[in-house]
Amino acid sequence: MGRYVKCRDSSTAEFTFNDKLERGSIQYFIDVSSCSCKCKCDCEKLILAVIKKLSPIKYFQTLVENIFVPNSFVVEETNDILVVPRKALFSV
Ligand SMILES: [Zn+2]
Repeated sequence: MGRYVKCRDSSTAEFTFNDKLERGSIQYFIDVSSCSCKCKCDCEKLILAVIKKLSPIKYFQTLVENIFVPNSFVVEETNDILVVPRKALFSV
């Protein structure tokens, strides 16, 4: 199924999966568009991202109780692989 698009194994993305905010490292993208045009075209593209889920394991406390420094934490790679539409990614 699909075509391997490109490898970006060092990039981290935020995305929603089952209505939950998740983070993961993008392994690669798969183009599963039904389009078979040989040249560039305007068909709708469906690109799936294969992502290895990352679990935050440590947050940094701010001086305010229960408020943590946003977007800065230690993550641990899990063995969970998630496949999400590229358009579900909002921070790459
Ligand atoms: Zn096309």
